[in-house]
Amino acid sequence: MPARAEWIGDARPMMGTEVSVLLWHEDRSRGEDLVGQVFAEAARIEALMSTYIEDSEISDINRRAASEPVPAGEELFTLIRRSLDISILTLGAFDITYDSVGQHYDFRKRQRPDARTVELERKHINFRLIELDQSAGTVRFLEQGVRINLGGIAKGYVVERGARILRANGVGHAIVTAGGDSRLLGDRRGQPWMVGIRDPRNDGQVAISVPLKDEAISTSGDYERYFEEGDKRYHHIIQPSTGTPAGGVHSATVFGPDAVMTDALSTSVFVMGVDQGLRLIATLPDYESIVIDDQGRIFYSAGLQQPDPGSEPE
Ligand code: ADP
Ligand code: MG
Repeated sequence: MPARAEWIGDARPMMGTEVSVLLWHEDRSRGEDLVGQVFAEAARIEALMSTYIEDSEISDINRRAASEPVPAGEELFTLIRRSLDISILTLGAFDITYDSVGQHYDFRKRQRPDARTVELERKHINFRLIELDQSAGTVRFLEQGVRINLGGIAKGYVVERGARILRANGVGHAIVTAGGDSRLLGDRRGQPWMVGIRDPRNDGQVAISVPLKDEAISTSGDYERYFEEGDKRYHHIIQPSTGTPAGGVHSATVFGPDAVMTDALSTSVFVMGVDQGLRLIATLPDYESIVIDDQGRIFYSAGLQQPDPGSEPE
């Protein structure tokens, strides 16, 4: 091993959050180039899939798909199809059409839809209103008012793609993170990566650290984007059946082999709640979950060994 091998990394604000890369490389300039390639890949995907970008493919679909079938590139088409598969798996807890209501939130401006708007718009939350034509590669909405948003799955896709670029270039140890989603390659050179799950109500504090290697881990929390009115917290994870922020859980973490899945599943488990969410995870042999409920209690999926009781916060 050449003595100059070292950890190389960087972080940038992207996709409404922070994207970061840390990798081990023997050649500093080659390593830095690869870090740049991961950011370039993230930017490319964001340009396709962000609803905040007017000329993204997804914005075009949202504008036109209720009137006519709209061609989607293979990549976006595939991610929409995977989203629909996860909607079926989660009995509708994960639903990219949440955005008919979701579009009316602006967390920075503390804006939320009024009750009447929620009542009107939540009728359009239904993944079955998305029709995909596999052979034509088109997306159509079955009624006006339907909108899609991949905010619950696209960051997982970004870190999965980023990690794939690194692996294809011979990198054996790396972590690619976008907001609450991380994809790990290998270990931290001899030790597992320790990924902290935030204490949902104590900024900067870690509730639990999970040792992982070669895996993906995603956390969905009600502290990522939110504002408070009185004692009510309005956050960014929408319960499709009501069109309002999902209650009962402060954070849901899922880890397993694929970051696209862990991202969508962490959002899903958040929406489904402790019991239903952990029951879903128990049916997926490669995936585990840790949920912190609205009392600060920590719940583990069946496949996880319960750590020392002493390590629970509070
Ligand atoms: P983050 O990493 O930003 O915390 P999550 O993976 O928890 O993200 O996803 C939250 C995002 O998912 C929201 O900002 C929104 O874009 C989208 N979303 C909200 N509710 C749902 C839902 N029921 N199904 C699918 N996506 C959702
Ligand atoms: Mg998610």
